[in-house]
Amino acid sequence: MPDPQPDEGSFPPLRDIIDRYELRARKSLGQNFLLDLNLTRRIARAAGDISDCTVIEIGPGPGGLTRALLDEGAKQIIAVERDKRCLEALKELRSAFPDRLALIEGDALKVTPQSLVGETEPLRIIANLPYNVATELLFMWLVDARRYLSLTLMFQKEVAMRIVAAPGSKTYGRLSVMTQWLCETKLHFDIPARAFTPAPKVTSSLVGLTPRPHPLAPADRKALTAVTVAAFGQRRKMLRGSLKSLGCNTGMLIEKAGIEGTRRAEELSVEEFCRLARVYAELGKT
Ligand code: SAM
Repeated sequence: MPDPQPDEGSFPPLRDIIDRYELRARKSLGQNFLLDLNLTRRIARAAGDISDCTVIEIGPGPGGLTRALLDEGAKQIIAVERDKRCLEALKELRSAFPDRLALIEGDALKVTPQSLVGETEPLRIIANLPYNVATELLFMWLVDARRYLSLTLMFQKEVAMRIVAAPGSKTYGRLSVMTQWLCETKLHFDIPARAFTPAPKVTSSLVGLTPRPHPLAPADRKALTAVTVAAFGQRRKMLRGSLKSLGCNTGMLIEKAGIEGTRRAEELSVEEFCRLARVYAELGKT
């Protein structure tokens, strides 16, 4: 028997859920809840077709985005939440959709999406992320980026701008290089602070990541990490200075990679960073 399909109106308003389960927001858990169902629906729609895949939702909180994902036809949602109070508050929703909604109590930094589904199940990650661990989560998922059809993630705007930044811009950095190396990136839209309860201090932005079938250019992850950490660690310096911290022959590294030592990190394309990483790996320093 398929699940019955209650609509939004069948559930108490999110504010009532918050009151009933005393979900006073905890800063330590990055809790800023989205209660506007038009906005949660926009997020769910930005993620593309969710009718034929499993959606991993990180931090469902009181369930605003979860409801929208169900409404938009998600085949299955596995929601990972750390806060027991929220899990309690979500039980009613789970009872209404026993075949489509699973709740997992745990820390998303420790629960890998791969451990939750079979190897061949198509997967999308969709989340209004807790900002205190958002970039850490992103780096974790990027390790196996090709496993996902897409990642649709809400970040604070400043982080979102770094993810999608092009070379030459002030926000271009290590996060841009490591993400764009593996994914196409898109800034969907901003959400003002006042749309959240409680309102954070900053504007938020929804980012769409579509993993590439192959990385933009060949490179060893550790080597690429090392060169980007060194180059952006001292981003105002010329590369011939900033790359010294790698502890190899910087002159040879730059020359073999065919890159001018007078350039600065923020001017290099992702492909050029990959070239540096390949030479660095060849020099036996990874
Ligand atoms: N999805 C809800 C919404 O849009 O209203 C809540 C989003 S709120 C920004 C972040 C959520 O992530 C909270 O529910 C919080 O309890 C949860 N959370 C925080 N750290 C977590 C972690 N390490 N693992 C899983 N969930 C976490």
